[in-house]
Formats: sequence, structure tokens, C-alpha cells
Amino acid sequence: MCECYFPRTPYSACRIYEKLRKGGKVAVIGNGSDILASDYGFDGGVICLKRMRGILPISETEILCLAGTNVADILAYCKKRSIGGMEYMYGIPASIGGAAYMNAGVGQYSISQNIVGVKCFGDFNGFLSREKCNFGYRHSTMCDINCLILSVKLRFCKSSDIEIRERTEYFKNKRRHLPKGKSCGCVFKNGENYSAGELIDRAGFKGLRRGNAYVSEKHADFIINEGDCAADVKYLIDIVKRGVLEQFGVRLHEEVVYIGEFNDFNG
Ligand SMILES: Cc1cc2nc3c(=O)[nH]c(=O)nc-3n(C[C@H](O)[C@H](O)[C@H](O)COP(=O)(O)OP(=O)(O)OC[C@H]3O[C@@H](n4cnc5c(N)ncnc54)[C@H](O)[C@@H]3O)c2cc1C
Repeated sequence: MCECYFPRTPYSACRIYEKLRKGGKVAVIGNGSDILASDYGFDGGVICLKRMRGILPISETEILCLAGTNVADILAYCKKRSIGGMEYMYGIPASIGGAAYMNAGVGQYSISQNIVGVKCFGDFNGFLSREKCNFGYRHSTMCDINCLILSVKLRFCKSSDIEIRERTEYFKNKRRHLPKGKSCGCVFKNGENYSAGELIDRAGFKGLRRGNAYVSEKHADFIINEGDCAADVKYLIDIVKRGVLEQFGVRLHEEVVYIGEFNDFNG
């Protein structure tokens, strides 16, 4: 039976995390926007940090955010205080902990540009400076160790209201073409010299459907799930992966994170 905890403070998050780790497997969730959870549940403990929120000003241009704080709330906070430079995160439904973990972003912009460091608990205890986080495309050191991100320190630049508004509009516009509906955002990571969505499109998978899930016609790297069956999404992921490998010799890698057991429909 899966136990799920929603701590509100770093202290209780650490105690729960310690307890769950002693008992077996642990899954950490922020907002869950990049997660595909198995229909069969999860054989371990789940710790969801979305209620562990808060923003503390450190200086005129630096803030400390508890890991569960919504990126949207941070953007609103910054706008009020005329600090900016993170508007590229507009519309990404992340908690700041999840965003730091995944090094979320858009185009050549990623959250690592605003991160001063993250405070972790687990295999590593303490403050990891940005340099030590080894940020890469949708990757960070935190993906390679078992840890909870407790808080994230961010740096901004002084910005006028007009600058913030213009940058926000620019990134808002860029997201207009994205499909609506329930999804995990992009299912696959882009490669150095290919776009996953383009390959999936060229392979003819747009519109491919299983149950209530389908590959979006608008953006082939999105799978929309109008139902509640995660296995349908996993089936489409496996078919798309095999098809792209067979047609172009490219092995796609998931950006989406699995929790629990899934069948391998190619296996
Ligand atoms: C409609 C839509 C649009 C999206 N657009 C984008 C986009 O433009 N760019 C982009 O990069 N992503 C995008 N995403 C994906 C997703 O929002 C990001 O990856 C985001 O950073 C995930 O944050 P989260 O809080 O939801 O993390 P979750 O989905 O809950 O978790 C993601 C991973 O981070 C780990 N994690 C989360 N919080 C912590 C923590 N505090 N400590 C340790 N580990 C943690 C989890 O274990 C998991 O491995 C989109 C998703 C959706 C649904």
C-alpha cells in the first residue's frame, strides 16, 4: 500500500524522508507535472512537496524559495518588486524544486541561469552551489543522487515594469502553439541535432491513439490523455520510440519521469 505525505516544513520533510528511506522505496514529487504514475500504484512511500511553500527575501535581487513554491508565484512576487530575468519560465507548471531538479526551461533559457544554489537533504546534506549542480539539458546533479531539494536560492536583476511585461508577453506568445489538455509537457528530450517532436511528426505518429490518449496533432512531442489510464500513455511512448528508432536510427530518451511499474510494450 502506497503512503503519501505532504509536509509543510523542511524539518518534517526531512524526518518523513528519513523514515521512508529506511522502509524501502521513496518517490519525491513537486507539482507532479512531469510525472507518469502507474495505474498499479507505487510500492513505496511518496513525499509530495507542493505544500512546502514560501519566499524569503535575501537581498534586493536574491530570494530563497522553499522547494514546493510554484514558479508562477515566484514570477508574481518578482513582478511586484520590480526584479526579473526569469520570465522564460512563464507557463511552466512547476514547483521550484522540480524545476531545479529537471533544469526546466525553454529554448536556450533554463532555470540554472537564475539559480545561486540549492539546499539538499539525503545522500548529500547541505548547500550545493550552482557550479556543483552540474546543470545540463533537463539534468542536474540532483538527478544522480537520492535527495530532497528543500529550498532554492535565486538571483534576479532589477527590471522596470515595462521590461518585465514585454519579456512575459514574448514568452507567453511562444507558448501559444502548445496543445491544451492533460499532458506531461514534452514526453521526450530533444537531442543535440534533432527535435524529438519533428522526428515523431516525420515518422507519421501525430494523432496515433490508444484508448483516450493520443499523440497531439499540434505538437508531436506531447501526448494528451483525456482519460485516466497511464498504461495508454506508456503504450504510445513505446510505439513512438520504436518507430523513430526504426525509421531514423535515433533512440529517444524520455523527459517524463515514471513512478511505479509499467509494461514495456516493445519488450
Ligand atoms: C503543460 C506542460 C508544459 C510544460 N512545459 C515545459 C517547458 O516548457 N519546459 C520544461 O522544462 N518543462 C516543461 N514541462 C514539464 C514540467 O513542468 C517540468 O519538468 C517541471 O520542472 C517539473 O516540476 P514539478 O514540480 O512538477 O516536478 P515533478 O513533475 O513533480 O517531478 C519531476 C522530477 O523532479 C523530482 N523532484 C521534484 N521536486 C523535487 C524536490 N523538491 N526534491 C527532489 N526531487 C524533486 C521528481 O522526483 C521527478 O523526478 C511542462 C509540463 C506540462 C504539463
